[in-house]
Amino acid sequence: MTVSIYWFRNDLRLTDNAALAAACAASDELVLIHVRSPDETMATPWGFPRGGPHRRRFRDQALAGLRRGIVSRGGVLLCLDGKPEQMLPAMAQQIGATRLFCEIVAAPEEMAQAAALREAGLDVRDVWQSSLLNPADLPFDIDGLPEVFTAFRQAVEHAAVSPHPASAAPARLPPAPPRLELPLGSDQQAATPAGSLSLPFSNPTCDGSETSALAHLERYFASAAPQSYKQTRNRLMGVDYSTGVSPWLAVGALSPRTVFQHLRAHESRFGANDSTYWIWFELLWRDFFRFWSLKHGARLFRARGLGQQPPPGHDPQAFSRWCAGQTGHAFVDAGLRDLAATGTLSNRMRQVVASYLIHDLACDWRAGAAWFESRLTDYDVCSNHGNWLYIAGRGADPRQGRRFNPDKQAADHDPDGSYRARWADPHVGPAP
Ligand code: FAD
Repeated sequence: MTVSIYWFRNDLRLTDNAALAAACAASDELVLIHVRSPDETMATPWGFPRGGPHRRRFRDQALAGLRRGIVSRGGVLLCLDGKPEQMLPAMAQQIGATRLFCEIVAAPEEMAQAAALREAGLDVRDVWQSSLLNPADLPFDIDGLPEVFTAFRQAVEHAAVSPHPASAAPARLPPAPPRLELPLGSDQQAATPAGSLSLPFSNPTCDGSETSALAHLERYFASAAPQSYKQTRNRLMGVDYSTGVSPWLAVGALSPRTVFQHLRAHESRFGANDSTYWIWFELLWRDFFRFWSLKHGARLFRARGLGQQPPPGHDPQAFSRWCAGQTGHAFVDAGLRDLAATGTLSNRMRQVVASYLIHDLACDWRAGAAWFESRLTDYDVCSNHGNWLYIAGRGADPRQGRRFNPDKQAADHDPDGSYRARWADPHVGPAP
C-alpha cells in the first residue's frame, strides 16, 4: 500500500498537471494538500505586507474550483495554514506517507522549501511543469541559456522546439487514507469565492478557477481578437486587447501548454499572422524568465542584480508617493491607482510606472517589485523580477536599462486623456 502526499503550489489545476499525474500513478492512497504560508502576508522591509487582497481572493477562487474538481473525482483537498516545511512532514507522519509529489518552482524561497522537506526525511519527487517548453528539449542546457531574450528565442526557433501536448485531467483520483485526521488549523470547507474581482475583462462570472480559465480561453480564441493582438496589446484598458490569461497562469489554474493549444486551434481556424505569432513570442518571454531564474537563482534578487553597477539608491518618501499614485505625473499616477484598485495593469503601464520609479525617482527597483508582488493578481516571481531587472538594466537587457519617457508614452498611448480621466480620483490608491 503506497500512501503519498500531493502538494499543490502554483499549479491549482487538474488538466495538464504532470506532477499530479505522477502522484496518481504511484499511489494507492493520496492526500492532496495546499498550504497557505504566513510568509505570504508578512511585512516587507518597504513598509507594507507581502501579499495583497486581489491575489488572495483570486487564489481562493482557484482553490474552490480545484476542490470541486477533486471531490468529483473521489479525492479530498486539505487547505492548511502554516509553514509547508512544518505542516507537510507532520501530515506525512500522521498518515504514514514517505513520498511527496509537487511541482518545481524556480525561485530561492520555493527551492529552499523543497530542500527543507528533503532534510525532514521526505522523498520529494518534484517535477518541472510550469513552462511552455520542456527544459530537456532546449538546444542548450540551463547553464548555457543565452543571457539575452532574442538569442534565446532565435535558438529555440532555429531548433524548432515545440511544446508537448497538454495532458487531460485524471478521470479518478486515488482515495484519501481512511485514517486521515485533520490537523488543527486545516480548512475542510470549500474556499469561498469572495465577491467579484476586477479582471482585465468585466465578466462577473469569471473567477480564479480552472473552469473559468478554460471558458475564457475558449471564448477569446474563438473570437477574432487574437488576429489583431499585435496592434491592440499596448492598449491600457478595455476587453480582449490582450489575452488576459496571466492571473490563471500565475496560480496555475491554466498551463501555458493549454494556452498554446488554443492558439494553434485558433490559427487553424482563422489563419496564422503576425499577431498570433506574437502571442507565442510573449509566452516565450515568460519561459525565458523561468529558465533565467533556474540558471541564476538568488543572484536575481540582489540589489545590483546580475550587473556590476553599484547598488541602487532609494528615496522612501518618493516611493510612498509612487505607491499611492501621487507622484504628480498624471499618467504615471493613473497607472498606479489602476493597479492598487484593480490588482491588474496593462503591460505598457507596468513598463511606464516601473521606469518612472527607477529612472525618474531614483528608487530601488526591489521596492517596486515588492509593491507589484503585493498588488498584482497575476504576480509571478520569475516574470516580475525578470521584468523589473530588465527595466533597471541589471539583468538581461543589452542596453543599460530602459527609460520610458512618460510624456511621450502618454501622448502615444493615451492621446485623448481618457485613461488619465478614468483614474483622476486621488483617493483610490492606498498609501503603503
Ligand atoms: P498578453 O499580452 O496576452 O501575453 C500573453 C502571456 O505572455 C501573458 O499572460 C504572460 O504569461 C506572457 N507575457 C507577456 N508579456 C510578458 C513579459 N513582459 N514577461 C513575461 N511574460 C510575459 N507578468 C506576470 O504574469 N506576472 C508578473 O508578476 C508580471 N510582472 C511584471 C512586471 C513588470 C515591471 C512588467 C513590465 C511586466 C510584468 N509582467 C508580469 C509581464 C506582463 O506585463 C504581463 O504578463 C501581461 O501584462 C499580462 O497580461 P496578458 O495575460 O493579457 O498578457
